[in-house]
Amino acid sequence: MMDMDTKTLLKKFNIRPIKSLGQNFLNDNNTLKAIVDSAGIGNRDIVIEIGPGLGGMTSELAARAGRVVAVEIDKYLMPVLRENLKAFSNVTVLNKDIMKMDIGKDIMESEELTYSGFKPDKIRIVANLPYYITTPVVMKLLEQELSVECMVFMVQTEVSDRMAAEPGGKEYGALSVAVQFYSRPHKLFNVSPQCFIPQPAVESSVIRLDIYKTPPVQVLDRKVFFKTVKAAFGQRRKTLINALYNAGCFSKSKVEIREILRSMGIDENQRGETLSLEQFARLSNLLLNNH
Ligand code: SAM
Repeated sequence: MMDMDTKTLLKKFNIRPIKSLGQNFLNDNNTLKAIVDSAGIGNRDIVIEIGPGLGGMTSELAARAGRVVAVEIDKYLMPVLRENLKAFSNVTVLNKDIMKMDIGKDIMESEELTYSGFKPDKIRIVANLPYYITTPVVMKLLEQELSVECMVFMVQTEVSDRMAAEPGGKEYGALSVAVQFYSRPHKLFNVSPQCFIPQPAVESSVIRLDIYKTPPVQVLDRKVFFKTVKAAFGQRRKTLINALYNAGCFSKSKVEIREILRSMGIDENQRGETLSLEQFARLSNLLLNNH
């Protein structure tokens, strides 16, 4: 653990948090420990951290994991990270933009890791995410299918609610379906704005995604599946039949779409947000096959 609090560190290294990079640094050791605890890290695991910031959580991760690779976009934080993590030989900090990385190649197949001969037991991802890119980062990590065991994220409460939402409610949307296609989400606890410096304008929550080895539903073509989901939620106020037809990407007539919905026992005037993951999977398989 770092032996200095966030305020002192910011002063010592003359750092002013950059709002546009989502720099709200965690300043509460109990929360930090609870996040790391919830990832269930073993000493042969590799942990990928996104946005280590000042390195508070990184040192806690390094104390438990076999190796930690932390990706931080802000070059001005490099001296702080070097200083705060100098006691740990198992941490690599990459000064990179996570959105521009191929995690498989740039991290898992990096010389740094392969050269050391480290063979991880499990891969885990832990991050107090920058809120301005939460959804794209989470989607990127899920879509890379890295055989990750779990991902633990601090996100805006509203986003964690959407990730874990069930069909029918107003929080249920494309993000819920995508997250639940790849993982089983567990909402863990809320974190108040007072736990950060500077304080964010929103409430935060920690969520753990236990990644499936194979998705829980059978999808014949993932592109068509995600297109179906996007179409259904793209026009929320439209009925399902109109949303699918207007999306214009299924090469099906309205009559054919109606027939598919009927064969599934779905009312064509239903809205997309009432469909379960299983129904989305089946619908996309039929939209693909049923010519
Ligand atoms: N982990 C630290 C903590 O808990 O105090 C900092 C968390 S702060 C909410 C988010 C961090 O992500 C910042 O350090 C920010 O510079 C970094 N960040 C923002 N955009 C990034 C990107 N595209 N790639 C990598 N890191 C990024």
